Amino acid sequence: MSLTEEQIRGNLQRIEERIRKAAVSANRTPESIKLLVVSKRQPVEVVENAARAGVKLFGENYAEEIEPKRQALSVFSGIQWHMIGHIQSRKVKIVAEMADYVHSIDSLELALKLNRALEERGRDLPVLLEMNVSSEESKSGWAAWDGSHWEALSLEIEEVLACSRLDVHGLMTMPPLAENPETVRPYFARLARLRDYLAARFPATDWRELSMGTSADFETGIQEGASFIRIGQAILGPRPAWISG
Ligand SMILES: *Cc1c(COP(=O)(O)O)cnc(C)c1O
Repeated sequence: MSLTEEQIRGNLQRIEERIRKAAVSANRTPESIKLLVVSKRQPVEVVENAARAGVKLFGENYAEEIEPKRQALSVFSGIQWHMIGHIQSRKVKIVAEMADYVHSIDSLELALKLNRALEERGRDLPVLLEMNVSSEESKSGWAAWDGSHWEALSLEIEEVLACSRLDVHGLMTMPPLAENPETVRPYFARLARLRDYLAARFPATDWRELSMGTSADFETGIQEGASFIRIGQAILGPRPAWISG
């Protein structure tokens, strides 16, 4: 059932065309949008086929899936592994060793722990702060749906910015699943406003990245200013329920 290199190549071409159209509709250049291919729960053979089809940026939700896939792809150059899922405390060390980029810094506690683990290893890591801009329904991210909380939020973010091994580059969000991509437009717009607010407040930090949009709603993400979109199923096919072996 795993997709072949040819099938993945075809999916990539179709998605890249849709990215181009969405970018043009928003007066943006397609080059300003980075496509992260989400390979969570996909077996190593699918990830290898994707690399043969030219994919360079992979997104994973489970820290322990990165190492075997990274090893399998060691013959390809320029591959990056981005952590996009919630990071449990006991997985912080794996992330500090294995990830090239983290989109899912969702608490001050996690930021401090990851910073310590990176200090021990002498590594710096580019990171995004994950915001919950929709409501209690979507559990992941800092509570940021109410603008009157942004002031208090900035006090915590100031502490994250002081972490010497974390290079904060912007924000990420994962809205609740919606049938209609228009449902998530106000959330993506709110993430962009929050980014502008933080950029005014902390001008020394480079807030260039907005990671928003999946297979279901990436065109809306692009129209609202996404610089990273995270697409899994539309490129790699349906995810198996779990990986064996
Ligand atoms: C799974 C996942 C995606 C990709 O979802 P698809 O529906 O496969 O495109 C993007 N972002 C996060 C945080 C995810 O967990």
